Amino acid sequence: MTDHTAKPCPFCQRDPARVLGEDDLSVIYQDGFPVSPGHTVIIPKRHVATLFEASEAEQLALLKALNCAKALLDEAHHPGRLQHRYQSI
Ligand SMILES: [Zn+2]
Repeated sequence: MTDHTAKPCPFCQRDPARVLGEDDLSVIYQDGFPVSPGHTVIIPKRHVATLFEASEAEQLALLKALNCAKALLDEAHHPGRLQHRYQSI
């Protein structure tokens, strides 16, 4: 059931200029309020509460997107170490 009082999902209404890559199941997206240079989020295209509720195909797509995002960030920002945080909505 859709909750019409809820805020619109910021990850469904993406700014195309901030999309770094995508496939049928996932999106690599520059965060709109970066807490560090290169702050990037990996978004499943289907709403799931946690990574563990994603299908196996979605989990594989998210992992592939994570690897792709790391390569993009390595090239753009040359981080000494990456900080990975996981958040699901
Ligand atoms: Zn959404």
